Amino acid sequence: MSDCLFCKIVAGEIPAKLVAESDAALAFYDIAPQAPVHVLVIPKVHVTDINEIDGDHPVMDDLIALVQSVVTEEGIKDAGYRLVVNVGVDGQQTVPHLHIHVLGGRRMTWPPG
Ligand code: 5GP
Ligand code: ZN
Repeated sequence: MSDCLFCKIVAGEIPAKLVAESDAALAFYDIAPQAPVHVLVIPKVHVTDINEIDGDHPVMDDLIALVQSVVTEEGIKDAGYRLVVNVGVDGQQTVPHLHIHVLGGRRMTWPPG
């Protein structure tokens, strides 16, 4: 998608601080971190949100595999962390390209707002 912010990051047209990469997924630091570790993990292909994924699509497997690399590299695997996927308007998704927020490095609170 030519006008998608995260597709532009995948294409290298907008700079991002990369954390990790696989064949199908990319991880980079969030520009407005909400925790000491705040990484976004995205599919390299454009997928708007979870609603777009069909049963045969391996995209979530690809994302989770890269999440596991990220939490190991960032040193938050054992202490724990939070994964957040905002979907649509009520979910307060602001960038319409599927992403998993990886938040860690501090104790989270619950419930979320
Ligand atoms: P959402 O609100 O859609 O769940 O999350 C979008 C996230 O993308 C936000 O946490 C926001 O800070 C982050 N973000 C927005 N624009 C950019 C950008 O240009 N670069 C990076 N690295 N993160 C961005
Ligand atoms: Zn996109």
